[in-house]
Amino acid sequence: MADSNKVVEEIRQRINIVDVIKDVVSLNKKGKNHLGLCPFHTEKTPSFNVNEEKGFFYCFGCQESGDVFTFLMKYNNNSFYETLLDLGKRVGVEVKSSYQKDHEDQYYFLIDIYKEAARIFQDTLIRSKLGSPGLNYLSKRYINDNSLNKFMLGYAPEEWTHLHHHLSQANYSIESQIKSELVKSKNKNYYDNFRHRVIFPIVDESHRIVAFGGRVLDDSQPKYLNSPENYYFKKREILYGLNLAKQAIKDEGKAIIVEGYFDVIMAHQMGIENVVAPLGTGLTQRHIQKLKRYTDKMVLVFDGDPAGEKAMIRGLTHTLKADIETLVVTLSDGMDPCDYLLNNGSESFIEMVNQAKPALDYRIEWGYHQMPDGNDFHKRQYLNDLYSFLNALDSEVQKEEGLKKAAILLKISDRGIQKDYMNFLNKGRSKKVVQKEPTDSNTPDPKLSPKAITERYLIFTLLNHLEFFLNYKNRFLSMDLEDSFSQKLLDTMAEVFSDKEKLEAQDVHLILEALDEEDKALVSQELLDGKYQAEPIQQIQDCFKRLKLHEIRPEQVSISRKITEAQRENTVDLDELLEERQFLANEENKLKQREKATWKD
Ligand SMILES: [Zn+2]
Repeated sequence: MADSNKVVEEIRQRINIVDVIKDVVSLNKKGKNHLGLCPFHTEKTPSFNVNEEKGFFYCFGCQESGDVFTFLMKYNNNSFYETLLDLGKRVGVEVKSSYQKDHEDQYYFLIDIYKEAARIFQDTLIRSKLGSPGLNYLSKRYINDNSLNKFMLGYAPEEWTHLHHHLSQANYSIESQIKSELVKSKNKNYYDNFRHRVIFPIVDESHRIVAFGGRVLDDSQPKYLNSPENYYFKKREILYGLNLAKQAIKDEGKAIIVEGYFDVIMAHQMGIENVVAPLGTGLTQRHIQKLKRYTDKMVLVFDGDPAGEKAMIRGLTHTLKADIETLVVTLSDGMDPCDYLLNNGSESFIEMVNQAKPALDYRIEWGYHQMPDGNDFHKRQYLNDLYSFLNALDSEVQKEEGLKKAAILLKISDRGIQKDYMNFLNKGRSKKVVQKEPTDSNTPDPKLSPKAITERYLIFTLLNHLEFFLNYKNRFLSMDLEDSFSQKLLDTMAEVFSDKEKLEAQDVHLILEALDEEDKALVSQELLDGKYQAEPIQQIQDCFKRLKLHEIRPEQVSISRKITEAQRENTVDLDELLEERQFLANEENKLKQREKATWKD
């Protein structure tokens, strides 16, 4: 692993992230950062930031972030290895073939072990006696043998160590089994994560199995269980079936989006192959970007249940902003696409898809039909909801069309609704200012105590100046932090950098990779903030002093209380307590003196 990391680090050092991103995004320098229009979501005002020194990017609009490798992997949809080869060529660093082998140790083992697990699940379903509950279930759902093979369906039997046992027999270490999260451990006992479930391997566009979904055979909960997200599997990026559908999507000139595994499989089984599904999330911007590589048109087929419909309606705003023609169709009374296909056949399904409505019309009519009746109050509610929806769109044409459609439905004049909409906007304007993007917000979270604010300031200053972190690490770790977020970040830094002897600005990517999405977004924002730039050592020392003062003050309070008690009861340890009080006062003075001195500089 050491050698391959050296290659990656060497490439990272030679490459300038701004140069690489400038090839595809036009960037302007703004302070320490470079700013441009985000390539990962549609926007009119730039919120995509690149920091050259720290070698990372962050978008305030869609929260995409990462280093130069992440950028290229996402932008070109390439693997880490392909990206490494490209960048290696660019800066003249040879990426030896040994890299791939080493790299396998780090992440690629997942692909390897998932492939073997898929084989075991499938073998169990098709060739083992244990598989019959799974086979029975699938045949009850009318899934044929061809689909079983095409989608590599499998079965995890109702046993605790079936997969664990087979993986061990195939020489997969217990470590890799646990890391893959296919096997869990509790008190040194190992057991399978998926039990008594039909297994759907989740395959990416490069035809690699990157995760599994498992469905129970009865009504127990959870109905569906997915592998946790990993290096290759991100729910908001992956579409089930895209590996099998992409050619048909190109050929047909559109993608059909459904909700579940069985909908996708049944559509393919009945000869409709341009069908994919998101996995337990609505359609995200990343999904749409992926689809846009193959088509500029999609048809959303909603299940006919109100909850599902509402969830999909919420996702329509960014679908409409994404510059892809979107049509919508809803199935009637509680049917899903799989039921519909089985009941009505593929021709009828295609016909229905061909009659889908433009998403904008659909959204406007949907709201209209939600109105309990047409009294003025309900009309007002409908219009307010419609106006906020339209207001979130970028296109003036869409807004105008939307207003016209609503005017027709409500039987009011175009001019009337235009005026009403303007009134709505004017009323909202004073409130809207609060929601501006957090690009230059400098105010700390008002819920934090002064001590917690100082803790955060210290940790963010150190993150912005990693070169000093190791000097202060132990001192910081020895303190009792009040703010759990600071504590978490500090622990992460200590762990990630535990074997480092020296740190550089660019090492921050290691921290970003270790954080979950939400924390990553918060940290990225602080890394782009100029307030941590000036005189870092001074700032770090000031923070430590302030934290020390926060520790002294409660002690002083408790000593004073003890002194009062001692005086009243005339006990002997009064002298000791007075001495201690003096000591604390001296400490406080020293800290304050030093603070004054440094502030004068
Ligand atoms: Zn973005």
